[in-house]
Amino acid sequence: MPSDLVIVYHRQPYEEVEENGKIVFRENKSPNGIVPTLKSFFGTAEHAAWIAWKLADDPANPDFEKVVEISDAHGDYTVSRLPLTEKQVKSFYHVSSKEAFWPILHSFKEKFNYDPVDWPTFREVNWAFAEAAAREAAQGARVWIHDYNLWLVPGYLRQLRSDVTISFFHHTPFPAADMFNVLPWRREIVKSLLDCDIVGFHIPRYASNFVSVARSLFDVSVKTRETVVDELVSDGTALSERTLPTLLSFEGRDVAISSASVGVAVEFIESRANDPAVKADAAQIKADLGECRLILSVGRTDYTKGGVDQLESFERVLTENPDLRGKVKLMHVSVSANRNMSAYALTQTGIEETAGRINGRFGTLHWQPIALISRAIPFDDLIKYYLAADVAWITPLVDGMNLVCKEYLAARTDGDGVLVLSEFAGAAVELHSAVITNPFSHRSMDQAILQGLEMPERERRDRMAELRRVVKKYSVKAWGDAQQRQFSAAIARKDTAA
Ligand code: UDP
Repeated sequence: MPSDLVIVYHRQPYEEVEENGKIVFRENKSPNGIVPTLKSFFGTAEHAAWIAWKLADDPANPDFEKVVEISDAHGDYTVSRLPLTEKQVKSFYHVSSKEAFWPILHSFKEKFNYDPVDWPTFREVNWAFAEAAAREAAQGARVWIHDYNLWLVPGYLRQLRSDVTISFFHHTPFPAADMFNVLPWRREIVKSLLDCDIVGFHIPRYASNFVSVARSLFDVSVKTRETVVDELVSDGTALSERTLPTLLSFEGRDVAISSASVGVAVEFIESRANDPAVKADAAQIKADLGECRLILSVGRTDYTKGGVDQLESFERVLTENPDLRGKVKLMHVSVSANRNMSAYALTQTGIEETAGRINGRFGTLHWQPIALISRAIPFDDLIKYYLAADVAWITPLVDGMNLVCKEYLAARTDGDGVLVLSEFAGAAVELHSAVITNPFSHRSMDQAILQGLEMPERERRDRMAELRRVVKKYSVKAWGDAQQRQFSAAIARKDTAA
């Protein structure tokens, strides 16, 4: 059945598990992550489709089930699974996306690895996604494409279907032209993005960077300059962050540039945090720590997350403040997801060595300064730690948004707790009442964590109240609504132009 909404996201929207020799599709249990939010969009469509890839030993195998019909809490929808070989996945995802695009998007020029990129394979995989979207889309459908590993899809799709409305959302930062233009394929990528009706980013700065990149490469003119989608930018944002060109004109077409930050499912997180069993477990964690206060740091193992820099700051703070020894514990969760990629393996080793050194240097029989955890903590347990933590210490060197800090705030229904946040997390644009720190400055990092630990209760509660207000206002639902408004506005513009 043709779909009036097509979501193009590289992962499948469910867990595929084997039960009694049969494959069953299970609703993804995790409330975090973007998949449930995207699925909630199905409610805005008569029929929806989702395009993803699935590993296939032999893509020509006639038994490969390319299209499955799913019925779950979000309704009935079609999932079109592109059969990709291991070689294609490695090339398009692990090499092109993670070794070439990811470092540039996060402004780590020195980690950019050009040599292993096989551009024809990247094109071929993106073409397959575009073809599948073109096949599923009804006349005039909305097609919503996600993230940099599908950068070429909009351009290919435009060639195949001029009638559809295309929106592309970046879940990462977007760097300035001097950084982005390091990519040898920059013209092809940006030309594809300019074939969209809407190009979306988390925060105005990334949107603004995209506009300057586009203008450095193509003859793009700025049509309107008035409003950015600034209901999603909190009041304290600097004027320069707010006034952006929102509508570009390229080859006679309008391209809307939007910024709206992804939030979290606040009500769900609050209900988990208010569960008596969860509260009791959090109280037990605190009781077990006794006099020792808990600092919590949670993230994936990635050089962008600044794990080693944070541990080194903790080491300096313990060196210079002997009174804190035995009185504070850092729970450092660094989930190691990509051990087979050398950049991530190196980062993991750096974290393990640094944490080991610090524990060896300061630890006693009864106290270890750092509890290092490399495996993923189930979300329900994470909420207990959010509730038990005196300070959440979230200091990425660069981060598109950072949801952990927002989850921490959503979980603090008790109104207490301190957030120390890197100014280079996209979330910092909204969360002005956090203790904002510069992870590239030793002094700033050390002072910020000390400020967090020493903050009086009155100030903690005042800041937390304001931070929770912001997180509730810019929830994941608000983000979804903003995306929906962008689609409606683009369709209305096209109708007027026709
Ligand atoms: N997360 C989790 N268990 C862990 C660590 C992280 O469930 O042990 C989840 C966390 O709740 C959050 C997500 O992983 O929803 C991380 O998202 P974020 O935007 O902070 O970082 P990303 O990994 O997308 O860069």
